[in-house]
Amino acid sequence: MKIMVARIPEEGSDYKGDESGSIIGVEQEQFIRNPKDVHYELHAQRVSDELVVRGMLDVDVDLQCARCSEFFSTTVSVSDFLRAYPAPEGTDSVDLTDDFREEILLHMPGFPVCSEGCKGVCPQCGVDLNKGSCTCKTEDGPSAWSALDGLNL
Ligand SMILES: [Zn+2]
Repeated sequence: MKIMVARIPEEGSDYKGDESGSIIGVEQEQFIRNPKDVHYELHAQRVSDELVVRGMLDVDVDLQCARCSEFFSTTVSVSDFLRAYPAPEGTDSVDLTDDFREEILLHMPGFPVCSEGCKGVCPQCGVDLNKGSCTCKTEDGPSAWSALDGLNL
């Protein structure tokens, strides 16, 4: 998204719209799929030789649940977008696209879960415990930790 600096009045300008989700470049990210449009609502104002842009972004994406590995739809929001760009006299435009991408990736949850109650997969047989149960005794059987205790390091 580009802001045409010369057109901004002294009191600043508001920008509202959508950018293609392809700007996020999720092809590289194995845990993120199907980004929809990135919605932005921003206010840009010139402050001396800088263009100060603040506002919010949000985008609907599919994230992979860290517990059960299923993809689920969620919204990633950036409520505190704030950047200053050098914009001396004669600056034509300022491009915010890279910063949109960076902020959205920064605001992705580090441990996404499809729901608070997600049971995850059985660590022994790999069955998705949200969809059914397995015969492994994960509750009272030996845990991965007690197996580690038995290791003589
Ligand atoms: Zn899950």
